Amino acid sequence: MKWSKLLIQTLREDPGDAEIDSHRLMVRAGFVRKASGGLYTYLPLGMRVLNKVQRIVREEMDRAGAQEIVMPILQPSELWKTSGRWDSMGPGMFRLEDRGGHSFALSPTAEEMVTSLLGGIVNSYRQLPATVYQIQWKFRDEIRPRFGLMRSKEFLMKDAYSFDVSLDAADASYEAMFEAYKRIFERCGLKAYPVEADTGDIGGKFSHEFHVLADSGEDGIAFCEGCGYAANLEKASRKVSARSDAPCAEIEMVPTPGAKTIDEVSAFMGVPAAAFVKSLIYVADGKCVMVCVEGDRDVNEVKLRHFLGAKKVELADPAAVLAATGANAGSVGPVKPADSSLRIVCDLGLKGAKGCIAGANKDDHHIKNLDFDRDCNITEGDYADLVIVRDGDICATCGGKMTIRRGIEVGHVFKLGTKYTSAFKAVYKNDSLEDRVMVMGCYGIGVSRTMQAVIEQSHDANGIIWPSSVAPYQVCICLLDPDDPAAVEVAQSLESALEEKGIDVIVDDRAERPGVKFKDADLIGFPVRVVVGTRGLSSGGVEIKRRRDDKSATVTVPPAEAVEAIVSRLA
Ligand code: ATP
Ligand code: MG
Repeated sequence: MKWSKLLIQTLREDPGDAEIDSHRLMVRAGFVRKASGGLYTYLPLGMRVLNKVQRIVREEMDRAGAQEIVMPILQPSELWKTSGRWDSMGPGMFRLEDRGGHSFALSPTAEEMVTSLLGGIVNSYRQLPATVYQIQWKFRDEIRPRFGLMRSKEFLMKDAYSFDVSLDAADASYEAMFEAYKRIFERCGLKAYPVEADTGDIGGKFSHEFHVLADSGEDGIAFCEGCGYAANLEKASRKVSARSDAPCAEIEMVPTPGAKTIDEVSAFMGVPAAAFVKSLIYVADGKCVMVCVEGDRDVNEVKLRHFLGAKKVELADPAAVLAATGANAGSVGPVKPADSSLRIVCDLGLKGAKGCIAGANKDDHHIKNLDFDRDCNITEGDYADLVIVRDGDICATCGGKMTIRRGIEVGHVFKLGTKYTSAFKAVYKNDSLEDRVMVMGCYGIGVSRTMQAVIEQSHDANGIIWPSSVAPYQVCICLLDPDDPAAVEVAQSLESALEEKGIDVIVDDRAERPGVKFKDADLIGFPVRVVVGTRGLSSGGVEIKRRRDDKSATVTVPPAEAVEAIVSRLA
């Protein structure tokens, strides 16, 4: 392909809204153009990458036995009402009406439509297992579209759905997708880690997100170097250190005038924050509950919601705090009057805790020498893992130390159970001709996000460094003297020889200075650059350099040896 024939426009300036390198580079190198907030046009170079990622996804889905379909983006509201998500999806789902007043959603995902589809096709256990997938545009009214393709309003997703006869059978479908995901990301040249993720109402260990580690990632992940445990911070748990049995002095009330926050009280009393009890009043589905964690820890609201079995938890407003405890926030604590019916739930880190300081449920007062077992009336079953894990916490699996890293979620595999199949009465007949509900799994990959994640993981100060598998062109031939017939001849024969081997080649035939060509080739990030020019040809041949190597690794070879040298560098 001749560069001069392509709509390639590199930009000198960074786009004003780019906060991360991959966004900046992708726009500057001419892969995408912003159409509006969270909406992008894929230019010819971007389209080539997107297509290559899609090809890899398709091949691996097919290899894993999934069957490709494509479902409508415009989805009738009735489907979403059947599952209850017409309401629960809230403002994140785009909605519209046709001229007849019928309402529709622009598909943010497709569990409803696929369940209704398979429910209508599958009759017998003989038709199962079945996994279907599509690569289709999805729409989400994100609160904050940003980072280019990473969080956009319209994005390309591969979504797959498995249907099985039983929970056990569904495990096998899940495993097959899990393995396919590992292969997909590896083939895209990405280092992506599977991390345990929150399973919502389903429970169990069957939800993994695939994350690409990057400082710009929006998700926190707890990692254990020791055993490889990796979990999303929403889900990660820790091993609690043992508490000392030493008896503690009698409980004592101390005035702490004006000191409200843990930091203020800690400074006032000269005691570290960890010795405090953080006591917060939450409202869970309309009911107040006190949540206690160590003073230097934060409540994990996802864990709290699951533990309480609540649909929604949120911090109580000041009036509710006062009504529930008799004190204002900042003076609240777990030693409550005998007649109080307020439920108190505590993080496991407070089990057997002694010598703590907590609010006294009396404004401007705290209690010291608190012994949880002795002084607080907390039910055994109300101790649970309720905190967000942090750097240095102990791994529950191996006892090693965990570190917190940032990640970009590129994929998600999830065992859904019968949540949707029950709602849609998607049943099959077993071998006794009884109706049974199918068991489902869902599996997503952000195809467009993956494309950008490759850039985020693989770039330098000069531009993108594409892995060969998804590069727009694998080889860029910089033709320095497009007016010299001998140089043109060498460039053309190299191009066809490489193309015959299935390698994508672009020939930079523009009437530009060498410096401009080299800069653009580096910015766009072709894996191999070949320089063909009059001077080089007369003194030894063509210059070959891999994008990821530095100048010193450049080799000059006679044109006849160039193909072999290029192929070996692409491998
Ligand atoms: P996130 O937590 O990042 O919002 P999600 O968990 O809501 O993502 P899923 O419903 O699991 O996303 O969707 C499957 C995949 O689609 C994600 O793993 C991600 O790669 C991609 N994805 C989700 N939202 C967006 C978006 N707004 N822009 C681009 N890709 C997205
Ligand atoms: Mg997800």
